[in-house]
Amino acid sequence: EAPQTTFKRVLLKISGEALMGEQGYGLNPPTVERIAREVKSVHDMGVEICMVIGGGNIFRGLAGSAQGMERTTADYMGMLATVMNALAMQSALEELGVFTRVISAIRMDEVAEPYIRRRAVRHLEKKRVCIFAAGTGNPYFTTDTAATLRANEMACEAIFKGTKVDGVYDKDPVKHDDAVRYDNVSYDDVLVKNLKVMDASAIALARDNSLPIIVFSLDEPGGFRGILAGQGTYTRVS
Ligand code: UDP
Repeated sequence: EAPQTTFKRVLLKISGEALMGEQGYGLNPPTVERIAREVKSVHDMGVEICMVIGGGNIFRGLAGSAQGMERTTADYMGMLATVMNALAMQSALEELGVFTRVISAIRMDEVAEPYIRRRAVRHLEKKRVCIFAAGTGNPYFTTDTAATLRANEMACEAIFKGTKVDGVYDKDPVKHDDAVRYDNVSYDDVLVKNLKVMDASAIALARDNSLPIIVFSLDEPGGFRGILAGQGTYTRVS
């Protein structure tokens, strides 16, 4: 009677803002714990899980450069912010008894493992949740692109993008009552209609490797597990 899934290995992408709760900045421990429980419930189904967490709750490169900071420096600060979020998630998951590794694209050996692809695959095979931190390690990218890159490298079957709403709409559903949710949408439509799913480089990288992106609501309790079990509403970009 426990929910079943056909997925074997997936990547969960969440924005940094998903971790800040109602407080508007930084980390809200109960919110981090709630998301960790969602991850654990999917881990309990036997699914191998990769995670990429953004850094926007702490620092975004574009915001820094808009205030006069040198862009690449600001981007490195953004990447460092994602490491803090990854460590918070690691701590919350291990509190729940889920083994994890934080794997950083920028070397900081005292804090996180360096990214070595084969080693990360081995962790997944051993059912450790791999939290990929520091984005791609390069400025001018986003954690959406990092998520798509790692999902491809780890041979994930799909990216699950947890958001505040249950999919992709033709216009912002928070502002428009008549916004319509897509069940399915093509990568090209996302790009041409400029639908807010992920940035264009991430969408193109997913498209070129036929990696589906499933957009769902993380605000719905049991949402992640439900979507993996084929319940609930979501949008599939493929
Ligand atoms: N970043 C980067 N390269 C990467 C990933 C991230 O330079 O490969 C920087 C960039 O400045 C970005 C910040 O890290 O603004 C935080 O990531 P992102 O904006 O993707 O976080 P989210 O919006 O998902 O919280």
